Order: sequence, then structure tokens, then C-alpha cells
Amino acid sequence: MRVHIAENAGACYGVERALNIVLKTAQSANKQDDIKPVHTLGPLIHNPQVVSKLEREGVGVADEVDDVHEGTVIIRTHGVPPQITDSLGHKGLSVVDATCPYVKKVHKSAKKLTEEGYFVIIVGDADHAEVQGIAGYCKDYLVTTSVDDLVELKLPKKVGVVVQTTQSQEMLDTILCYLSRRVNELRVFNTICEATNERQAAARKLSLEVDAMIVIGGKNSGNTRRLHEISKENCANAHHIETADELEAAWFEGVSDVGVTAGASTPQAQISTVVEAIENL
Ligand code: SF4
Repeated sequence: MRVHIAENAGACYGVERALNIVLKTAQSANKQDDIKPVHTLGPLIHNPQVVSKLEREGVGVADEVDDVHEGTVIIRTHGVPPQITDSLGHKGLSVVDATCPYVKKVHKSAKKLTEEGYFVIIVGDADHAEVQGIAGYCKDYLVTTSVDDLVELKLPKKVGVVVQTTQSQEMLDTILCYLSRRVNELRVFNTICEATNERQAAARKLSLEVDAMIVIGGKNSGNTRRLHEISKENCANAHHIETADELEAAWFEGVSDVGVTAGASTPQAQISTVVEAIENL
């Protein structure tokens, strides 16, 4: 049985970077004489195994600012509104910012548009933490993933657009096509990060070439679930797992080529463990 790993699979730059920051922060906190707690504000990534590993390293998860009273708080890749960073500082907490630099770029663009008097349209999911962080940099804004929301809106003369990093180009194109005919002055910052698109394209390609597909990542990870859906469109024998323990021998009966892909919050070590388990079946 041959195992093929998708060309783009697993943890993206922003997630790898955040994991390194968190581990370094925990190590340095553990070396202090007076050990103070370290928390991430929300789970660092949608990967229960990694979150549990971090807990064993001494990094807890705080759901709200009010849940932390001392020590260090790490801001995750999605970023937060500036008001949250300020409130952590006012509480005297030490803040370590692991916001992905690509998300920081969206913050910067949203802030610039706001300062220059643009009404900001954020193309993204309103309930996603990244979008809530971006909105914190805007004054007058609308969050949308549908032209229908714009039909109801009396569009101002100056409209600026920024995009949640994981949105699709098609979605942005549809919204821009509508706006460009109705707005006097339109300024667009295309802030889509290619990591998601690259992983989806690679899963699509590989799932056409194999007899079984294994998709690794948190069951709570939206981008991993999407990789599973894409794989299933081309390969009925596609399975979403978190760990090697979930592999079933029956999936590999009569199979000569197995494809493996993983969501953007799955570290390489987790992929290697699963590949090794498949090879030893
Ligand atoms: S998907 Fe892109 S924007 Fe999001 S954390 Fe990864 S590198 Fe950063």
C-alpha cells in the first residue's frame, strides 16, 4: 500500500508560529521562581490533542478576560479587538500576542480605512473570532457573506472592503461585482490567506488519484471538515480522524493508494504518526 501526503497539508505558518510562541512562553514561565499561570484566550487552535498537550505543559484556556486574574495571557492566531488587549493590560496581566501576521494585516487595513473615513465592509462570518477582532478596528461597518445584505443597505459614497483570511476568492468577487457598480469610491484590501485554498486544492487533486483518503484534524475544525467534504466528493472511502487510534483496517482492504491530508491546525508530528500507523497496518 502506497501512502501519499497532499502537497499542502497540515499546520499553516500562522499556527506553527503560534505554537512556538506558546511553548516558549510556557517554558520561560516554568523557569521563574514565582511561577505564574499562562493562559490562551480561547483554545489556541481547533485541535483537542494539541490543546490537551499544551495543558500538560502548563498552558490553560481562559474563555473570557474576566476568567484570568494573574500571569500571562496569550492571544491566539485569530487576534482580538484592540479593546480586549487594552482590558488585559489594565488588569496588569502580561500579554503575549500570537496573532497571525496575516490577520494583523487585516487589522491594519481596517484601521486605515476607518481613519480615512470609509464605511468598511468585512467579508466574513460574523460569529467567527477573527472577524470580531477585525470589527474592533472599524467604526462604521457591516459584516457579510452575502450580496443580499447589501441590497438593503443605503451604501455610503466611500466604501472600503477587507476580507476574513479564510474566505474564498469567489465570495469576494461576487461582493465586489455588486459594489463596483453602486459605489462612488471603492477601496479593496484583498486579505485572503492562500493557506486554506492551497490545502483544499491539494486535497481535491489527491482524492481523485487514490482509493482511500484520510483527513486528519480536530472534529471541531471547520477547515478540516471542509477538507473531508472535498475528499468525499471524489473518493467515497474518505475518513476524518483526529488520531491514529481511529483508523479501521476495513477502510484499507483492497486499497493500493492512500491519500493523507490534514487541516491547518494539525501539526506535522500528528500527520507523521498517522502515516506510520497506516504503513504498519
Ligand atoms: S490560515 Fe493563514 S491567516 Fe490563518 S493562521 Fe494560517 S497563515 Fe495565518
